[in-house]
Amino acid sequence: MMLQNLKQLFEDNEGKRAIGAFNVHCLEMLPAMLEGAKDLEAPIILQTSLGTAEYIGFDLLVSSIETLVERLDVDVCLHMDHCKDIEALKKAIDSGYTSVMYDGSSLPLDENIKNTKFVVEYAHANDASVEGEVGTIGGAEEGVVVSEEDAIYTDPADAYKFVRETGVDAIAVAIGTTHGQYKSKAKINFELLEKLSSNLKGVGLVLHGGTGVSDEDMRRCVANGMKKVNVGTELNKSYIEEVNKTFSTATPLTSLRKLLLPANNRIKDIVMEKTELFQLK
Ligand SMILES: [Zn+2]
Repeated sequence: MMLQNLKQLFEDNEGKRAIGAFNVHCLEMLPAMLEGAKDLEAPIILQTSLGTAEYIGFDLLVSSIETLVERLDVDVCLHMDHCKDIEALKKAIDSGYTSVMYDGSSLPLDENIKNTKFVVEYAHANDASVEGEVGTIGGAEEGVVVSEEDAIYTDPADAYKFVRETGVDAIAVAIGTTHGQYKSKAKINFELLEKLSSNLKGVGLVLHGGTGVSDEDMRRCVANGMKKVNVGTELNKSYIEEVNKTFSTATPLTSLRKLLLPANNRIKDIVMEKTELFQLK
């Protein structure tokens, strides 16, 4: 059982669903994520920030996932989320990541295209896929906060040029969602989504900031051609809520494992709920 890239997952799931891309924040939540996908017989994208990959260690992360894929027989893509460091992306691919996101969205379009194209060449030569970004999604990306007012919607002409010239497999589009949004719901520009979706055939549209999207809007996004949906904040937030409860009543002799299990179970529930939500009915 090998890890798969985005292109393979998109092809296998065409007309069936958008694939959930869940941020692995720590090793503890990893088995629960894959068990959730297994119970639904659905594919899953596991993604990490560069910070998390360095925290866990590239080798430990990749070998743990390979072991779980072998055990559970699930279709899995391991993807590096938002990364501006091309050397780090090469390291990820060399370590066994099957997909990476090069985020050049803060650069002028031509420079974004040039760098993304370089990453695509390296990735494709190693059977890995690439996600790019045009426009700016609001909220915190790797600690750098982009305010909602400064978020820039993806321009359809720019996106078309970007996809054609870089050969990316997936593109993150800014249509009104915000990273880290969990207190309110986003206002999505569906007119723009429809335009992007009809202009960009053959490339997977990616929705970031999935936590801040209502279920109704999410179903509409998937029906309008979204292929990958990122869920990060909800996992982080829920894990903290659960461990806050258990740790606050723990004694020095309480088994740590028992303090983490409710949080791991909650992760599994979220993966299952979201995976079902992303299915096309
Ligand atoms: Zn993102």
